[in-house]
Amino acid sequence: MRRERRPVHDLWPVTLVRLRSGASPPVVEVARPETFEEVVGLLREARRSRRRVLAMGGASGVCGALTPEAGDLVLDLSALDRVEVDEHDLVVRAQAGVNGLELERRLNRRGMTLGHLPASLPVASLGGMVSTRSAGQESSRYGRIEDLVLGLTVALADGTIVEARARPGTAVGPPLHQLFVGAEGSLGVVLEVVLRVHRRPEAVLGRGWRLGTLEAGLEVMRSAMQGGLRPLVLRLYDPEDSALQGLEGWSLVAAAAGPPALAEAEAAVLAVLAAGVGAEDLGEGPWRSWLEHRFDLSAERLRDLLSAPGSFLDTIELATTWSRLPALYREVKAHLARAGAALCHFAHPTGQGCCAYFTVAGSAPDETAAERTHGEVWRGAMEIALRHEAAISHHHGVGRARAPWVVAELGGWWEVWRRMRSALDPECLLNPNGVGGDGVR
Ligand SMILES: Cc1cc2nc3c(=O)[nH]c(=O)nc-3n(C[C@H](O)[C@H](O)[C@H](O)COP(=O)(O)OP(=O)(O)OC[C@H]3O[C@@H](n4cnc5c(N)ncnc54)[C@H](O)[C@@H]3O)c2cc1C
Repeated sequence: MRRERRPVHDLWPVTLVRLRSGASPPVVEVARPETFEEVVGLLREARRSRRRVLAMGGASGVCGALTPEAGDLVLDLSALDRVEVDEHDLVVRAQAGVNGLELERRLNRRGMTLGHLPASLPVASLGGMVSTRSAGQESSRYGRIEDLVLGLTVALADGTIVEARARPGTAVGPPLHQLFVGAEGSLGVVLEVVLRVHRRPEAVLGRGWRLGTLEAGLEVMRSAMQGGLRPLVLRLYDPEDSALQGLEGWSLVAAAAGPPALAEAEAAVLAVLAAGVGAEDLGEGPWRSWLEHRFDLSAERLRDLLSAPGSFLDTIELATTWSRLPALYREVKAHLARAGAALCHFAHPTGQGCCAYFTVAGSAPDETAAERTHGEVWRGAMEIALRHEAAISHHHGVGRARAPWVVAELGGWWEVWRRMRSALDPECLLNPNGVGGDGVR
């Protein structure tokens, strides 16, 4: 097993701004276990010396959940990358360190898809996607990561291994493995994931529309999801976000998928819904362009965008019900626009609502001012979200970015989380920045 000492951090914009202004992240020990037994050995060793342990996947998280401090031990899980596919049952058993894009390509070669395609797929690991409760671009058809996970193999803080029990359904108590989906490595180390996969759709039919208003766009999305459609992609862009893609006004990009007859029928229903709100049909162009650029915002690009002195850039993804979305959007957008350029798109729809995904970018006279403005942007957005009863994170997680607002968001469930965490990790050795940080103890 390789062991080395080096700095480790994720892509939390605050860390990137601090690095830009000359701060150096602490050098920590990084161990790269190749077997489950080695992970257990490392956890036991850390326990003996009371060292804190942080699991690491692709380090593409954007909330500072992976921010180790001097003396911490980081487990680089990238060597745990075995994959077994059961084509008959459409089940895959994959180790936590496998790269998301590599897993998807392996499935595609055999006519299957996981259907989980976050924009960070080229860098994210399966264990990281599970641990941040991530959502992919095709969630309106296949669900979020927690809908795909059938079971998990997990190493607890004391080295006990709990094996995945993967069933299509069970009523033997609550699905306890779900406790670890979104726990940001603070309850255990995810070693292996059993997931449902899907046959790749034979046909995909996509197009775009221009809409007059936010309400018209949301109405198409709501009607589609509540009407029982399962679109592969369904996303609404506000005028500023549309402009980034060469489109004007409010624009909707959607794709129907499945056996050709079903895809055609679903595409026809989408077209009727769009026409019903007076949308202008833009043809297949916007869909093709979206497909081509779907992974453009890479980790490298993010670092580039944040390289200019005094600049800040971040994304804040909130979620609420259809009826609350317009007011939430208007208030958050106005707040962000006071700090810089503010963009928003609506994605990951369900019958009940969707995610409002904001991007904010700007520049300040110096690094201190940049961090201060960035902090004000977040504080305002979180307070508005809580006031509108929106989820303060839809799919990026908590980390350090959202830790101050977790108690308010969880309400009485905070106590459940706190007690559970203390029971599973009484010595507080697993990721101190996960879901609320040290305040949990
Ligand atoms: C350009 C860009 C685009 C993005 N797009 C999306 C998107 O479309 N959808 C989306 O949901 N997210 C997106 N993200 C953020 C997203 O959180 C991460 O990309 C991804 O889910 C994290 O995976 P990772 O392997 O990089 O995890 P890391 O960053 O390595 O870790 C994230 C957290 O999970 C923990 N962890 C990692 N592996 C394990 C494990 N095996 N066991 C226990 N804990 C573990 C870490 O300790 C940390 O707390 C994007 C990020 C970037 C930079």
